[in-house]
Amino acid sequence: DQEQPKKPSWIRVKAPTSEGYKQTRDILKSKKLVTVCEEAGCPNVGECWSAGHATMMIMGEICTRGCTFCNVATGKPQSLDAFEPGKVAHAVAELGLKHVVITSVDRDDLEDGGAEHFAQTIRAVRHRSPQTTIEILTPDFLKCPPSALEKVVEARPDVFNHNLETVPGLYLEVRPGARYFHSLRLLQKVKELDPTMFTKSGIMVGLGETRAGVLQVMDDMRAADVDFLTIGQYLQPTPKHHRVDRFVTPDEFKSYEDAAYGKGFGMVSATPLTRSSYHAGDDFARLRAA
Ligand code: SF4
Ligand code: SF4
Repeated sequence: DQEQPKKPSWIRVKAPTSEGYKQTRDILKSKKLVTVCEEAGCPNVGECWSAGHATMMIMGEICTRGCTFCNVATGKPQSLDAFEPGKVAHAVAELGLKHVVITSVDRDDLEDGGAEHFAQTIRAVRHRSPQTTIEILTPDFLKCPPSALEKVVEARPDVFNHNLETVPGLYLEVRPGARYFHSLRLLQKVKELDPTMFTKSGIMVGLGETRAGVLQVMDDMRAADVDFLTIGQYLQPTPKHHRVDRFVTPDEFKSYEDAAYGKGFGMVSATPLTRSSYHAGDDFARLRAA
């Protein structure tokens, strides 16, 4: 194994100890909800949960894919919990969320990839908390009929996020089972189905991509009409996962942010600790107020 680069000083994580953190943890635990914050071992969990912000993960804890950057277990998934949409809606209300991010594992075992379950969850949250804005971070629905994506879009989330994760040249290594141009086309289709819906995507850097590669992904996203972009440093969850090629400096992140705004994205978050859902609510509220 090649040696990993040392974690630099700008990757600093505060220990989660606040009262707000505990409150969020208890509410989520009492509803037996899974969060990507925990599953992914997200470095922002202390900060986000203290502010009552969490990303719910629906459709179980076992994924049918095995992306090499991801800490979620791969295997044969559990059957869907018909009560889950209601549980998520309760938790959103109890946490008093202004903005919620809902994501899921990939469910290649289901004919619609879990689209109906996603749609039900969106509707349940909307019904119980009509003021809460809803952001979904979806799988790619690779082998599903077109009706799967249509179902999710028809449930009218406020933001439709699907991450491209990395440059196309690294897909085989990083995101086997996914197809770069399929994911890009998915984002474009969302816009075609509902031009008023915000679309969002993100990538991790430090996996071995080049700057030119990142700029090309930005161009591809803009050609697919993607509105919002997130770029964050890849961190290796365990030694078995894809290695960190390098730590991208805060200055390089700033230059990615400037380049992205220059290419016409409406909202960009590009910092070492940026994650898809990091500050998503604040950013979205700012954008709507502008
Ligand atoms: Fe959870 Fe997203 Fe915050 Fe990480 S950035 S703790 S995944 S809400
Ligand atoms: Fe993880 Fe999503 Fe890949 Fe599944 S599809 S392994 S949850 S990143």
